[in-house]
Amino acid sequence: MILLAINVPTIQWAIGQSALDRRVDSLISLMTLEEKIGQMNQYNGFWDVTGPAPAEGNASQKYENLRKGFVGSMLNITGVEEVRKVQKIAVEETRLGIPLIIGFDMIHGMKTMSPIPLAEAASWDLDAIEKSSQIGSREAAAMGVNWTFAPMVDVSRDARWGRVMEGAGEDPYLSSQIAKARVKGYQGDDLSDPLTLAACVKHFAGYGFSEGGRDYNTVDVGTSTLYNVILPPFKAALDAGARTFMNSFNDLNGIPATGNSLLQREILKGKWGFKGFIVSDWGSIGEMVNHRVAQDGRAAAKLAIQAGSDMDMESYLYIKHLKELIESGEVEESLIDDAVRRILSLKFELGLFDDPYLYCDETREEVVVGSAEHISGVLEMAKKSIVLLKNKENLLPLAKSGLKVAIIGSLASDKDSPLGSWRGLAEPNSAVSVLEGLENFSQNNYTFAKGAELVTEPPTFLKEVKLNTTDRSGFSQALEAASAADVVIAVMGEHGFQSGEARSRSEIGFPGLQQELLEELIKVNKKVILVSISGRPLDLSWADQNIPAILQAWQLGSQSGNAIAQVLFGDYNPSGKLPMSFPRNVGQMPLYYNQKSTGRPNNPGDDIVFWSHYSDVSNEALYPFGFGLSYTQFDYSGLSVESLANQQVRVKVNLKNSGLRDGEEVAQLYLNDHFSSFTRPIKELKGFQKIHLKSGESKTIEFFLGPEDLGFYDGEGNLLVEPGEFTIMVGGNSSPTLSVNFLLK
Ligand code: BGC
Repeated sequence: MILLAINVPTIQWAIGQSALDRRVDSLISLMTLEEKIGQMNQYNGFWDVTGPAPAEGNASQKYENLRKGFVGSMLNITGVEEVRKVQKIAVEETRLGIPLIIGFDMIHGMKTMSPIPLAEAASWDLDAIEKSSQIGSREAAAMGVNWTFAPMVDVSRDARWGRVMEGAGEDPYLSSQIAKARVKGYQGDDLSDPLTLAACVKHFAGYGFSEGGRDYNTVDVGTSTLYNVILPPFKAALDAGARTFMNSFNDLNGIPATGNSLLQREILKGKWGFKGFIVSDWGSIGEMVNHRVAQDGRAAAKLAIQAGSDMDMESYLYIKHLKELIESGEVEESLIDDAVRRILSLKFELGLFDDPYLYCDETREEVVVGSAEHISGVLEMAKKSIVLLKNKENLLPLAKSGLKVAIIGSLASDKDSPLGSWRGLAEPNSAVSVLEGLENFSQNNYTFAKGAELVTEPPTFLKEVKLNTTDRSGFSQALEAASAADVVIAVMGEHGFQSGEARSRSEIGFPGLQQELLEELIKVNKKVILVSISGRPLDLSWADQNIPAILQAWQLGSQSGNAIAQVLFGDYNPSGKLPMSFPRNVGQMPLYYNQKSTGRPNNPGDDIVFWSHYSDVSNEALYPFGFGLSYTQFDYSGLSVESLANQQVRVKVNLKNSGLRDGEEVAQLYLNDHFSSFTRPIKELKGFQKIHLKSGESKTIEFFLGPEDLGFYDGEGNLLVEPGEFTIMVGGNSSPTLSVNFLLK
């Protein structure tokens, strides 16, 4: 067994601890039990805390508790003016004047929206992702927020789950690298810098494995998946210095994550040595009553604190029951002290004790939010997130003038959908539409027809999206425009609120009448370019068979249309690669490239049925993980591997841009361990590099793998590195063409 390396931010944090600990301890020694419990209480702030106290109900109690100093944090209060008001109550009206931490779901932007996280993951560009995370955190911090409930690092292999839009896809290695980049982007080097936020890694753990991809559903996974697939991105985020974690709504193998000691106390706070705090998910302490592992709120509070949940988001159960639980001796006060110590430490680190209004500067808010720098930053990110899936006969890129183009689909003019779900405080309808983008970047002759509305009423965050499934009255106008055009751009996909929390789907094709419209379009014009907008992998199997060019454009944020246009015209050469496999049909779910070998050899021949497969669809994805085309061509050659000391290996490969355009390629390295004491995947991503090459240019790329890459976790979460033969594969997607073997001693 090999111990994992401790990284630099963790060490720096540890060094500064003693002075901080002393300040925290002396404050704790002044606090009453109720004040301590108050620090563990977090309220949502969608109510007017600064007006007169509401007469009754929850709001009134929240208000009263805030004034008494029984609130440690609030979420969803934003804007310097509003934050200043609540902070003033906490600091000036309570006995000890302890400032609040202000939390918010800054997931992919605050006002200036970056692409949804899954789209950003398709860039495989860690620097770009870090910068994009920085844009969001700068804007949120300038608006008084100092803590974001991000990154979400839940690996998921099921595109039916609506929250895949919020993560980095199906692979633990890619997700881990992206988790680190995001934490660095949010937190920067100094948490007390008022332009950074504390990160909150979520949802600990297993939320991405809800059965059937149905949000909030049961999670039952074995230790192999838990330790090798689910937990690595959390560990990576922790190693990058993430200060807080959020637990999860789901149960994991029979125990709700919020009341799960194995996850929170043993693994996170124990084995991994996490010194920050764990906040519950919204109301998840109370949900343990619904899970039926706690008989009532009191029992739920007891279970949660004992399992290691430090802060109660919106269940009101800590504030209600912890005092009595301690006084009756059912809960040790040391658990409360530990939780409070963790929470106060972050408040000190954020600089809130030195200046509670550090994040409340109107001038900064004015200058930072929506700055020109941020707008161009999210545009760059959006371009890098687009994936070219098909380009028959080089239909793309398009000429910028002289073409008669029909733009079809209601999503083409939609200025709201590209903002996606978890859209911060973005103004509704504030994204650049595809239509606008095309007009901004070219002089073609455009005709636009929706064909059909996607929805029958404007969707909201809270309500089910209402799809148009009957009104085809716009079809004929769309088909007329298409038949008269040189080329058709069909913009189809999901509304921005069709993915995200509580947005699971059992069918993952184009919703509403879009598929029908697409099938009609190709009958009248063979030159159709499909721009697919979605928050998840869609089933594009019909399109793949029938449409010559397909661009996966996700929900790309504020600059969506400009980014899509620049890719369509070749101003930007597409470089994105899929972070999730795109299926041939929904029945393939869960679908992922890093499958394990089964006891049955693969495809023994056409006549033999007794192998692990479906009789009606291939085992392979339609577009595999890591896949994405470019307007140029990349060739790999000369793969070699060299064993170094201490179970390290160096891998070299030559990459050449043999096409006519400059471009970027994501060189991907996959590993296969021939034999091991636990079953292992047929291939696993263990390295990647995004390389820019001019037309004709070549480069030798090097990868280094160490024991952590070559090993795997056993049933107790110990890293095992087993000597023996391995294969290394390198290429431009998860079906690489080059491979080489080596022996690990
Ligand atoms: C979500 C979390 C989010 C929280 C606060 C919950 O419903 O699951 O991801 O951070 O709400 O908004």
